[in-house]
This record gives sequence, structure tokens and C-alpha cells, in this order.
Amino acid sequence: MPHVITQACCGDASCVYACPVNCIHPTPEEPDFGTAEMLYIDPQTCVDCGACVSACPVGAIVPGHRLTADAARFAEVNADHYPDAAPGDARFPVNANWRLPMAPIDKPTALTGAAPDEVRVAIVGSGPSAMYAADELLRHDEVRVTVYERLSAPFGLARFGVAPDHESTRSVSELFDEIARHPNIEIRLNVEIGTDITLDELRATHHAVLWAGGAPTDRPLQIPGVDLPGVQSATSVVGWYNGHPDFLRATPDLDTDRAVVIGNGNVALDVARIFTSEPDRLASTSIDRTALTALRSSRLREVVVVARRGPEHAAFTMPELIGLADSHRRVWVDPAELAGVDPADHDDPTVSAKLELLHEIAARPKPAEPFIRLSFGHTPVAVVGDERATGVEFVRTGTDETVVLDAGLVLTAIGYRGKPVPGLPFDDQHGTVRNDAGRVVADDGPVPGLFVTGWIKRGPTGFIGTNKTDSGETVANLLADAEAGALPKPDGRAVGV
Ligand SMILES: Cc1cc2nc3c(=O)[nH]c(=O)nc-3n(C[C@H](O)[C@H](O)[C@H](O)COP(=O)(O)OP(=O)(O)OC[C@H]3O[C@@H](n4cnc5c(N)ncnc54)[C@H](O)[C@@H]3O)c2cc1C
Ligand code: SF4
Ligand code: SF4
Repeated sequence: MPHVITQACCGDASCVYACPVNCIHPTPEEPDFGTAEMLYIDPQTCVDCGACVSACPVGAIVPGHRLTADAARFAEVNADHYPDAAPGDARFPVNANWRLPMAPIDKPTALTGAAPDEVRVAIVGSGPSAMYAADELLRHDEVRVTVYERLSAPFGLARFGVAPDHESTRSVSELFDEIARHPNIEIRLNVEIGTDITLDELRATHHAVLWAGGAPTDRPLQIPGVDLPGVQSATSVVGWYNGHPDFLRATPDLDTDRAVVIGNGNVALDVARIFTSEPDRLASTSIDRTALTALRSSRLREVVVVARRGPEHAAFTMPELIGLADSHRRVWVDPAELAGVDPADHDDPTVSAKLELLHEIAARPKPAEPFIRLSFGHTPVAVVGDERATGVEFVRTGTDETVVLDAGLVLTAIGYRGKPVPGLPFDDQHGTVRNDAGRVVADDGPVPGLFVTGWIKRGPTGFIGTNKTDSGETVANLLADAEAGALPKPDGRAVGV
């Protein structure tokens, strides 16, 4: 049976380059790569060689005959991304503009041209984008990398964001540990650039500075009552259950029947799933022990995940929905919310597959409490309450009809935004540092020796593995500048941007 990619896929495309028959798509060279929810194996072309399994850093690929019941649906999800064809026909994924074949990337290990004998690179941050960038840089013997991380533990959201019960995904840290063991890299923890060391000081001692500080602020929900006690961001809850030092006191009030999560991306589902999981199942994970104790005495009976738009626009990904439906199982949709929603009306296979699964969930009996209810088409207009939140007022999107949902805990999960980095030109509209393919660009053009990668470069989109391609682009430009002799010579004197 062909191999199958499952829920943990974080899109780093390592399997693409390992596969001898080019049956994994989209590849990073294909237009849909940046928006794909995961990668897919063409079951008719796969020759079952297993090369992709060892290439995958998160154990997301399994031979078809080893799929567990929880993951059985992924065989169909993979196959649905390829059209039916007679065996032996040339096969292309359903998105016709995907192209074949892939050429493996040839990576030189020695710098040439006008590159200095030793290229010192400072990376700010130690999240996925930083570690993938370090990995690319360290292929060159002349490069010395120093990573500066403000927290006491490395790897950014791979450690402090990914949900503790997503253990396969969290295992990507093992890859980052391996990168960190390279003799030409040093990771300095508890050092915040801008506070402990200035950016200018860093530039004065390195040929290049690569900012990989992420997009650390929540998009604010601007409605009345949002400042009441009982309202907090889903991010603060994620930080709380993952032991993030900034959020140790962000304990949510679980002494209430219902929580409402506003927004329905994967982070909203993560928090809802943790709130409705058996604490005994969480006990074997890396969840923060204080959070686990609090979850054990939770009174929550229902977590309602509410989206402004209809189910055809659901922000959560299909792999996460499958995880809820087939593994967690404590999820429900009111059938009335799906009235008139027909999966066949949608050409995009991911949208129609999500709608089919939502219908299947809606047809199930209500699960045991506590459970997650997915709700659609409700726009929040105010948080209700005097001393603290007691509910949320919504209008049915596109109508004047209002609905109040009682809730003692309200979480906002409407996305992230990069905040300006002192000393770097900022694109306020996109919440990113202004850059051209990773080269920082000021009003008068590219700033020699200054680069960005990850969420602060492209905005808060994509998965852990998406940062690999992103960092590859930035590092290619950094090395091109090194070879062209275009990196400033660090002379120990601080320079401004
Ligand atoms: C809650 C949450 C859950 C997620 N779950 C998943 C998942 O399950 N699977 C998946 O594939 N993707 C997941 N993602 C997406 C993934 O985490 C991101 O794509 C990725 O972490 C972005 O990497 P980054 O390096 O740009 O930023 P980050 O991971 O945020 O890393 C930035 C690092 O820079 C440090 N830093 C910032 N400023 C400074 C400074 N001035 N000095 C020193 N250090 C600094 C920060 O402390 C941090 O360690 C999740 C995202 C979130 C928010
Ligand atoms: S098992 Fe082999 S042929 Fe099949 S997808 Fe993996 S690498 Fe490609
Ligand atoms: S995580 Fe990477 S290697 Fe694993 S299946 Fe996804 S894209 Fe392929």
C-alpha cells in the first residue's frame, strides 16, 4: 500500500527531496506550496520505498497498512489531491499549474568570490526560522553563527506554541537540537537584543545580522467589554499551558460552564482541545504541571469556537479537523448551522472535504461533556458583563439578528501581528520588517548586512516547516552578498540603520 502523510505534517518539504519518483506535492517550487495545509502523496505513483519516512522530522509519514484508525482518513485526503488516471499515465495534482519534475537543490559548501575568510552571523531569536537559517548557514565552513534568544529555552513557538498533545510535531525540536550541536554555532539564552545588547552593537561585531524574532503580538479584537476580567487572548492560554515564562500568571478562569473562543484557526482549536481533553491523557505530555492541576479542577462543560464567516471559510486546517473528529472526538456542530451548505458546491477539494466532515460531525450525537462546539456565521459585537465577562453578544453575520452566548471565559484568537523592531524599517500594513526576499530595505534601498526571516519577514502564516523555505531564501541572499563582498566589515564600532 502506498505511503500516507498524516496530521503532524508541518510542511518542511524534506520528503519531497527524498522521494525518488516525485510523487509528493506541492513542492516548494509550486505555486500552492505557500497556502497548502499539508503535503500529499500520490498513491498511484508511490513505489513504497520508504525514503520519505526517514526524511520526515516529525514522523508524519506512514505506510498505508500501518495507518491507525485515528489517521485512516488521511489515505483519502492524500489521494483526493490527485485526479484519477489510468495506471502509468503522466499524473499531475488537481491544481493544474503544479509542475514536474523537481530538481534537487545543489548546495555548495565553500564560499567563493569576495567572501571574508570568516563570516560572522548573528541570528536574533531561536524559533524555527532561526534554526532553519542556521542549518543553511552552517553548511558553509567559513560561517560562524551566534543565536541570541531572550527566553531561557530555545526554539520559539516550536516549544512554547505547539500544543503539548501534538507530540509528533513537537519532536521537530530534536532536529533543532541536532543543528544546535554543530561546532560553529553558539546559542546565547536570556539575551534580548534591543535591551541587553543593541542592534547596532550586534552589527558592529558581525558581518550580518539576521532578525528572526517572530510576530509576537495578538491581533486585538476591538469591541466593547474586551478589557473585562474573564477575557484574554488564546495565545496567553497557550503560553500558560506550555510554561512560557511570559504567561505563567495568565491562568484562565475555568470555574465556569462555558468558554467562548472567538476565531477558528488552528490555535483556537488547540486551546479548545486542551480544555476538553481528559487531564489523565495530558499528564503524559509536556504540559506545564501547574496548568494540568488547574485543568483537573475545571468546571467547563462546553467550549464554543465561533467564527464570523461560514463553514466554507473555516480557518482551521483539514488535518486539525480530522484530529478532532477521529481522535479527540469530543466535538460537535449544530446541524442547523450547516443547513443549505453543500460540499458539492465547492471546487476546492480541501473546502469540500472540510464541509463533508463537518456534516458528518453534525450528524453524530452530542458528545460527552466537556466538548467543543464549532459555530459559524456569528460576528462578535460586545463582551457582556459588569464586573467581569458573563457572555458575548453576536450578530448573525449579514443580518441584524443578535444572539447572546453566556460564558465566564472569553478567548480571542483572531491571529497575530508583528510589532515594530526598534532600528528596523517597518511595514505597518503587513506587520513585517520591510524587506526584499529577506534583505532589509530602508527608504534609500537595501541595508547592507541586515536580513530577516520567518514570521517577521512574511507575516504570521504557514507552519513550522514553511520557515525552512523562507529561511533558505534569506540565507541564499545573505551568502550572495557575502560572495559579492557586499557585507559590511564589522569594525567594533556601532552603526545606525
Ligand atoms: C500558538 C501557536 C501554535 C502553533 N502550532 C503549530 C503546529 O502545531 N504546527 C506547525 O507546523 N506550526 C505551528 N505554529 C506555527 C509556527 O509555530 C510558526 O510558523 C513558527 O514558530 C514561526 O517561526 P519564527 O521563527 O518566525 O518565530 P517564533 O517561533 O515566534 O520565534 C521567535 C523567537 O525569537 C525570540 N525573540 C523575539 N524577539 C527577540 C529579541 N529582541 N531578542 C532575542 N530573542 C528574541 C522569541 O523569544 C522566540 O523564541 C503555531 C503557532 C502558534 C502561534
Ligand atoms: S514511499 Fe518512496 S515513493 Fe512513496 S512517497 Fe515516500 S519516498 Fe516517494
Ligand atoms: S513534515 Fe515535512 S517531511 Fe514530513 S510529511 Fe510534512 S513536508 Fe514531508
